[in-house]
Amino acid sequence: MSENGERDQVLLQVRHLQKSFGGIMAVADVSFDIQRREIVGLVGPNGAGKTTLFNLLSGFYAPDNGRAALEGETITGRSPHELAMLGIARTFQSLQVFGNMSALENVMVGRHLHTRTGLLAAAFRPPAVEREERRVRDDALRFLERMGLGARAQELACNLSFGEQRRLEIARALAAEPKLLMLDEPCAGLTQSEKEALAQIIRRIRQDGVAVLLVEHDVDLVMDLVDRVLVLDYGRLIAEGSPAQVQADPRVIQAYLGMEWDDLPLPADRAAADG
Ligand code: ATP
Repeated sequence: MSENGERDQVLLQVRHLQKSFGGIMAVADVSFDIQRREIVGLVGPNGAGKTTLFNLLSGFYAPDNGRAALEGETITGRSPHELAMLGIARTFQSLQVFGNMSALENVMVGRHLHTRTGLLAAAFRPPAVEREERRVRDDALRFLERMGLGARAQELACNLSFGEQRRLEIARALAAEPKLLMLDEPCAGLTQSEKEALAQIIRRIRQDGVAVLLVEHDVDLVMDLVDRVLVLDYGRLIAEGSPAQVQADPRVIQAYLGMEWDDLPLPADRAAADG
C-alpha cells in the first residue's frame, strides 16, 4: 500500500496522552494508532489506566498533556456529545440502560444524533415529524435486530436478561453510527456461550466498517478476537502488537509471568511486593 493509502487507514491517532490524579499517573505518555476496521484490545491489570484512557478518548476527562485525533480532527478536551457527533461511541463497565423504557426506546435515544427535529416541532407533531419518528423507530429496530434483540423490541429493558441488556447497550451505541466503538468490559458477567455470541457480533461490527477498541479481562477471548493488543501497566503502554507478538513480548512476560490478566495483583500490592 502507498504511504498515503496507509495514512488514510489511520482512524484514531493518540499522541503522548497523559492524565494524573494527585500523585498518581493514571495515563503516562501513551501513543498509538487505530486503523479503520480494526479490533484492538486494551489490556492490563486493575489500575493500569484502561478506564482513564477510555474517559480521555470519549470526552469525560481532558488530558493534562498530549492529544488524540479522529480522522485528523482533535478530539481531546471536547465534550462527550461533540465526540459522539464526530463518530465515537462507548459503553461502560457497569450497565447503563434505561430500565423503565422499552428496548426499542433505549435504542431510539442513541439515534437522536441523526434526527433534525427541534423540540418545538416535536411538540406540535406535524407530518414531517411523524415521518421522522417512524424512520427513527425503523432504524432503531434494525440495530436491535443486528444484536439479535428484534423479538424483544417492546419489552421493558429491565425485563431483559443481563446478557440481553449488554447487547442492548451496544445496539444503542451503534445507533449513533460511530466510526470508533469503545467497549468497556463488554463480556463481564456473561456466560461462555454469550461471550462467544458477542465476539461474533463484534466481528460483524468490524465488517460493517466500524473500528472497535475494547477493554476485556478475558484474555482467551481478547487473543482470539482482536487484530492488535495494547498492554498498559502503571499507565504506560508497555507492549503493542498482534496477540501472538504481545504474548511473546519479554516485557509482557516479565510483567505478567504465569498469570491470567484476572489474577494480576493490584498496583499497590505489586509496589509492596517490589519494595
Ligand atoms: P480496572 O481494570 O480496575 O478498571 P483500570 O486499568 O481501568 O482499572 P483506572 O481506573 O484507569 O485503571 O485507574 C488508573 C489509576 O488511576 C488507578 O491507580 C486509580 O486508582 C486512579 N484513578 C482513576 N480514576 C481516578 C479518579 N477519578 N481519582 C483519583 N484516582 C483515580
